[in-house]
Amino acid sequence: MPPTGTIRRVDAELEPDDVWRCLGPAGGARDRLAGDIEWAISEAVSLAEPASATRALRVQTMGRGEVTFDGGISARGRMLPHLMEGAEGGVFLLATAGPGIGVRVSELFAADRPVEAIVLDAAGSAIAMNVQSRTVTEIADARKEVGDLIGPCLVPGNEYWDLEGQRAVFDALPAHRIGVRLLDSLQMDPQKTQSALVPFGAELHILDDPASSPCSRCKATRCPMRLEPYAAAWETENLS
Ligand code: SF4
Repeated sequence: MPPTGTIRRVDAELEPDDVWRCLGPAGGARDRLAGDIEWAISEAVSLAEPASATRALRVQTMGRGEVTFDGGISARGRMLPHLMEGAEGGVFLLATAGPGIGVRVSELFAADRPVEAIVLDAAGSAIAMNVQSRTVTEIADARKEVGDLIGPCLVPGNEYWDLEGQRAVFDALPAHRIGVRLLDSLQMDPQKTQSALVPFGAELHILDDPASSPCSRCKATRCPMRLEPYAAAWETENLS
């Protein structure tokens, strides 16, 4: 049986700073590229078909390097059981800008217009990230209303959850309903798509809020999920 989930079509929203974040440091080029950025925003917004798919699943088991959810969906990663400690479940999500921007970027490269292609590519990435962040905010608001705590957004392809995690996301969600598919390479098509898992639960341990997460009291200084620096002063104040 194909997986179910909530599908939302959303409007594309983009500010120049969103595009700059995807392009990287601009230095002296910022003023020179201002017109290209405005053009790319308008082009990207008209080509985008932004949409998201979400589905909340309850945690069934947590073992060494593996968390299983309803339906036998399994997420494997050395740190996942720690990052989901105390979680009742997780919301799997996909957020996409749709295929049109990638097609236009390829056309621009083929037409030897690399600057426009690169700026439009960044605008497409910014739209996908924007849809993801709005989706995560909606998930967090809805969960907080029923008394849940929310964990940091976990993304496959990182040190704490390798790219194989994409399989769990696609097992959980009806990706085809927003026109997204997983390639053999574990990359997503359209490329301007984001995937994630948001842990939730009233007893969740690692939180998205740095002020109340235990990271500041944890000595694992090289942890890839550290939300804020280790505050050695905490031990002095609280354990003496
Ligand atoms: S810094 Fe420590 S508490 Fe925070 S996620 Fe890493 S291991 Fe866990």
